[in-house]
Amino acid sequence: MQQNYKVNELFQTIQGEGFYTGVPAIFLRLQGCDVGCAWCDTKHTWEIKADKQSDLILLTDRSNESERWANVTAQEIIAEIKRLGYSANLVVITGGEPCMVDLRELTQVLHEFGFKTQVETSGTYPVLVAPTTWVTLSPKVNMRGGKVVLQSALERADEIKHPVATEKDIEQLDALLAQIKSVDGKTICLQPISQKARATALCSKVCIERNWRLSVQMHKYLGID
Ligand code: SF4
Repeated sequence: MQQNYKVNELFQTIQGEGFYTGVPAIFLRLQGCDVGCAWCDTKHTWEIKADKQSDLILLTDRSNESERWANVTAQEIIAEIKRLGYSANLVVITGGEPCMVDLRELTQVLHEFGFKTQVETSGTYPVLVAPTTWVTLSPKVNMRGGKVVLQSALERADEIKHPVATEKDIEQLDALLAQIKSVDGKTICLQPISQKARATALCSKVCIERNWRLSVQMHKYLGID
């Protein structure tokens, strides 16, 4: 039986963060998250309310953020991407917390249709994706939902993208990295929170010292979604 996914949004843009910065991408936002980050900018994705179920076709109108979601298969998502005439070949599966569900079928089907896939996760759920899916883990530690970042998710991550405000955030990242066997082959990105000058200077300094990568949320500077 085909699996269904609860989609909140589907849109095409340029990836603004991390390893794939600047790459055209189709964003597939899944509904549902219980991690509870206070500063979350997608709180409308947290709850799956029965009375908010919708048709996928209605979710591609991005005029306002909405709690609506559509329950659709991977094939229906691909049909909608084709109907919309999207040209990007990277599909970024985000949320919400997309790893609350098993993403193996969705990522495999997208690969069969010629797409590359990237999953953006908090690392608090097992990462169930196709072997070649690029996994970006943005660790969410000590959030209201009481979740912990899983060692298995850290091990699977191709990229660890850490939001940074102060030195404490670098220490927190060091503690997480100490849990895994090796960071060899992983891209480590520091992302200054809210484009603050002090955080940007700190991230730049640490990236240079350690040969890590700076992620500046390019879309916020360009004023695109
Ligand atoms: Fe928001 Fe992501 Fe945190 Fe969930 S994990 S609360 S979607 S920032």
